[in-house]
Amino acid sequence: MKCDICGSRNARVYQKHTGRRLCDSCFLENVRNRVRLEAIRLGLGNAKKILLAVSGGKDSLVLADTISSFLDPGRLVAFNIMEGIEGYNRESQVKELERYLRDLGVELIGTSFKDGVGYSLDEIVRASQGRGLKISACTFCGGFRRKLINQAGRDVGADLVATGHNLDDEVQTIIINLLRGDVKKLVRVGDLPVKLSDKFVTRVKPLRKIYEWETTMYAYFKGFKFQETECPYISSRPTMRSKVRDLMYAIEDESPGSLLRILETYDKIAETVRRSSSLGELPTCRICGEPTSFGREICKNCELLISSGLLKSDL
Ligand SMILES: [Zn+2]
Ligand SMILES: [Zn+2]
Repeated sequence: MKCDICGSRNARVYQKHTGRRLCDSCFLENVRNRVRLEAIRLGLGNAKKILLAVSGGKDSLVLADTISSFLDPGRLVAFNIMEGIEGYNRESQVKELERYLRDLGVELIGTSFKDGVGYSLDEIVRASQGRGLKISACTFCGGFRRKLINQAGRDVGADLVATGHNLDDEVQTIIINLLRGDVKKLVRVGDLPVKLSDKFVTRVKPLRKIYEWETTMYAYFKGFKFQETECPYISSRPTMRSKVRDLMYAIEDESPGSLLRILETYDKIAETVRRSSSLGELPTCRICGEPTSFGREICKNCELLISSGLLKSDL
């Protein structure tokens, strides 16, 4: 069967949400074009410097590859974090990532939880378990990653931080916030995030309209070597997200294009809410000075370290 776009090469992908069969090069171009449209809408075209939060996983490679296809790679800085997970973070992966980014002309910088937080993720998890706490590794990891990425964005003077979250991730987050009734978080997940603090570098997700299966195919067609080992902490992942993920797959399967429609509807709602609400400036943490959520004096990260016995608080 021939490709529905070029009509000459053999089709290799069935894009269920458009009903088209595409060859590999038309598919790659289709993904790049959709990323470019979303990235321009998110303001990447006007940014002088953009920090790309990478991990060595497929989505971060797709992010770097697509963004550098239409933006000067000199405006991009990739930032990688070694969480310090035994058997998962390997030097060889960072080397591979570095080589790949160098070919694209993108500089790579990085840090580790050990350097940036004071403890590796394994050490934090062990300390919290030692105190009998049942906090999942992903809770620590997500919070500290966000903090380190934001700090790196400030350090390099980036106007924007771009992450590799895809459509599946984004819709799961929207549904979780809906189920929790968290309106303020809902608006912040939106397409054009509100800047709530001078200490926050605005975060954007240029892959937010690309299905996860599409980033996988993109990586496969491009022959990327990426981190395929599953994180050993995956079994401790919050169950809410995996339940929502299964539900979303069932809905998408029944009615292809559902995830895109959910996201587009949500963007319209977020826009209306944003215009009618004044969220005000975010408070800053009394311990580390980083921005935190409304109603908090100490940020979630510092609170987690205190409860795990890794940080003393006199406050
Ligand atoms: Zn084609
Ligand atoms: Zn703090």
